[in-house]
Amino acid sequence: MDIHEHQAKEILKSFGVPVPRGGLAYSPEQAAYRARELGGNAWVVKAQIHSGGRGEVGGVKVCKSEQEVADFARGLLGRQLVTKQTDANGKGVFRLWVEEASDIAQELYLGFVLDRKTERIMIVASGHGGMEIEDLAEEDPDSLVRSVVDPAVGLALYQARELGFRLGLEPKQVDQFSTFLRACYRAYRDLDAMMVEINPLVITGSGDLVALDAKMSFDSNALYKHPAIASLRDPSQEDPREATAYDNGLAYVGLDGDIGCIINGAGLAMASMDMIQLAGGQPANFLDIGGGASPERVCQAFRTVLSDQNVSVILVNIFAGINRCDWIAKGVIQAYKEVGIDLPVVVRLSGTNVEEGQKIIRESGLPIISADTLEEAAEKAVAARPQSAAA
Ligand code: GDP
Ligand code: MN
Repeated sequence: MDIHEHQAKEILKSFGVPVPRGGLAYSPEQAAYRARELGGNAWVVKAQIHSGGRGEVGGVKVCKSEQEVADFARGLLGRQLVTKQTDANGKGVFRLWVEEASDIAQELYLGFVLDRKTERIMIVASGHGGMEIEDLAEEDPDSLVRSVVDPAVGLALYQARELGFRLGLEPKQVDQFSTFLRACYRAYRDLDAMMVEINPLVITGSGDLVALDAKMSFDSNALYKHPAIASLRDPSQEDPREATAYDNGLAYVGLDGDIGCIINGAGLAMASMDMIQLAGGQPANFLDIGGGASPERVCQAFRTVLSDQNVSVILVNIFAGINRCDWIAKGVIQAYKEVGIDLPVVVRLSGTNVEEGQKIIRESGLPIISADTLEEAAEKAVAARPQSAAA
């Protein structure tokens, strides 16, 4: 789960990371008021969206007067910002962060990620900040320094200092840098983060380190341990299809194709998506309905899949171990009644109570296309699309 920059800054600040003073605004008037409240004569107004690359597309501006703050805010609020990191729809700007402008002498890059190869938290840093890490890795790979943290020891002071020296920092800044680094590490570890990125981390004109930008994302499977973090979720920044599915406890990932999938088990869901592609189609989504799916849950899965306008056929593929085919069959029929399905539906059932399930479907009189194997199901789904008749 991603959070906004201002939320990441507040969290990091509570762990001791220096961040600029700032305030949140939902209107141009409030943005100007924040500037007045902060004092000084220059402020940065920043679109709060779940994406980086805002600077390049007019989502960040240094303003020199309250009027300029208000004008920029007016132009930005309510807009969809399309950045390098978003899809073509972009992300809606509904709140702004107004902070005191910093005097930048140097920009550094600092990132904490989970390195799956070593199964440890890895720190990546560069004396060359401001640009995205992907571009940095391409344009100036030699500037990147990496360090892997031993979880039994934590981020040791000597390790943090060594990184500072490798970045070419002055001794005074190395002290600050180690404190900065260890605070970020504690936040990452204590809150089950997946990523912390400070880009840029700046050295100010007076030689101090400040987190000018901050990005954090969290392990969704650990959110139950951190209700305060879970409450920071902002559905306005999510794919609406995924947001509804999440609210209904379904594991759903939206994709670009037109074959809607209702499947049990992540492995079978992945295999089914492969089979669809092999048969010449494209899945509209990943959906794992989970074990012990009641008819109501099946119905909810249909609703979720059908909320995607691109879907032209639905493939239900169930291998019932904990699930029961008769329940799934009842769920499909209930969905026809309650949701009102006018698209072709292909159903493949296998496992517990399969005969009973198939009988229910046969006797329903509904135009459901049955299949016995995964391969057959995928082929029938591809063939059932209205486009395939035209093509
Ligand atoms: P991003 O483009 O979404 O990553 O947003 P950032 O928060 O990184 O801001 C983009 C750029 O705006 C930074 O790399 C800085 O160059 C510039 N910027 C942000 N805050 C300030 C500031 O306080 N003072 C100055 N002079 N520039 C800033
Ligand atoms: Mn940035």
